[in-house]
Amino acid sequence: MNLMNTLTYEGQEYTCRAEETVLECLTRHGVALPSSCHAGICQTCLMRSYKGKPPEMAQKGLKATLQAQDYFLACICRPQEDMEIGLLPQEQAWKSVEVLEQEAVAADIYRLRLSLPDDFSYEPGQYINVKSPAEAIRSYSLASIKPEDYLELHVKHIPGGKVSTWLCVTLKGGDEISINGPIGSCFYLPPSRPSSPKPILLAGTGTGLAPLYGILRTALQEGHDAPVHLFHGSLAPEGLYLVDELMQLAQEYNQFSYTPCVLKDGQLDLHQVGAIQDLIKASYPSLSGWQIYLCGDPELIKILRMQCFLSGAGMEDIFSDPFEPARA
Ligand SMILES: Cc1cc2nc3c(=O)[nH]c(=O)nc-3n(C[C@H](O)[C@H](O)[C@H](O)COP(=O)(O)OP(=O)(O)OC[C@H]3O[C@@H](n4cnc5c(N)ncnc54)[C@H](O)[C@@H]3O)c2cc1C
Repeated sequence: MNLMNTLTYEGQEYTCRAEETVLECLTRHGVALPSSCHAGICQTCLMRSYKGKPPEMAQKGLKATLQAQDYFLACICRPQEDMEIGLLPQEQAWKSVEVLEQEAVAADIYRLRLSLPDDFSYEPGQYINVKSPAEAIRSYSLASIKPEDYLELHVKHIPGGKVSTWLCVTLKGGDEISINGPIGSCFYLPPSRPSSPKPILLAGTGTGLAPLYGILRTALQEGHDAPVHLFHGSLAPEGLYLVDELMQLAQEYNQFSYTPCVLKDGQLDLHQVGAIQDLIKASYPSLSGWQIYLCGDPELIKILRMQCFLSGAGMEDIFSDPFEPARA
C-alpha cells in the first residue's frame, strides 16, 4: 500500500495523504464536492472510480450492482492505490445514434432499434437518456443484450407526451437521435457462489418488460442454473407483447417460466387473469433466498417491493427501476 496516492479528478491530479479520505483531499485542494453526513450514510458524495479499485470499506451500504461498477462514497474512501474518479458519470456525454428500426409490437408500444455507439459498454436492464430536438430528456431502458449490435428500446406512446410521441410517431428509420448513459443498477448479477445460484423473479407491466427482457436473456445466456420466472402484466391482452418470443424461450430453457397476465378479458388458456401482485403471491407465498427484479409502473413497484420483502426476500436482493414520469 502506498502512503500517498494520486487522485485524478476532472483532468487534474491531486496527492492524497495517508489516511486522508477522497473528500478531505479534494476539499483541502479547494475542490467543492457535494457532501452532507461525512459518515458514509447519506450517499450525497457518491462518486465512481474509472481507474483503480475503491477499497471495500468505501462501498459500505451501496447496492452490489453499484459496487460492481466501482461506485464509492468519497467521505469514507481512503484510497489504497491511484484512482481516476468522477462525480458525474463519464456516461453523461451525449452521443448521436441512428434509428435502425421502429416497429409497433402492441397497442401503443413500439420497439426501436438504435445503432450501437463505439465504446458503449452497458449492462442489459440499465437505461439511457434520450434528448428530443426540443431538448426534453427522458429515460428508456435497454432491452438488448450484449452480442446484439444495436440498442433496443420499448417505448409506450403516451398521447400528448413530448418524447414518446416524437420517438413513436415523428421519428423515422435513418434519423439521428441524441442519447447518453448507460445509467442504473438494475441488471443481472451473476451468483456470488456459482454452485448455488438464487432463483430469479422478474415482474413488471407494460414497457416494464424492456429491462426485464434484457436481464432475463442475459441470465439465460450466462447459464443461470436456477428457476427464472417472468410475470408480465397488462390491463388487457392487446397490451402484452413479445409473447411468442418469450414462449419460445420458455421452451428452449427448462429453468425459465413465463406467465403473461391480464386484469381483464384474458383467455384462461393463454393468460392468468387478475392483479399481477396477487398472481405472484399465489404462486410464491415464500420468496426467501430469491433475487427479484421489478420494473415499470412506480405504484406497482412500491406494492411489489413490500410484498416480496414480506414474503422473505432480502431488500439487498430486490432490484427495481420505477418509470417515474419526468417533471420537465
Ligand atoms: C429509469 C426509467 C426508465 C424508463 N424506461 C422506460 C421504457 O423502457 N419505456 C417507456 O415507455 N418508458 C420508460 N420510462 C418513462 C419515460 O422516461 C417517459 O416518462 C415516458 O415515455 C413519458 O414521456 P413523454 O415525454 O412522452 O411524456 P410527458 O410529456 O413527460 O408527459 C405527458 C403527460 O403524460 C403523463 N404521463 C407520463 N408517463 C405516463 C404514463 N406512463 N402513463 C400515463 N401518463 C403518463 C405525464 O404525467 C404528463 O401529464 C422510464 C422512466 C425512467 C425514470
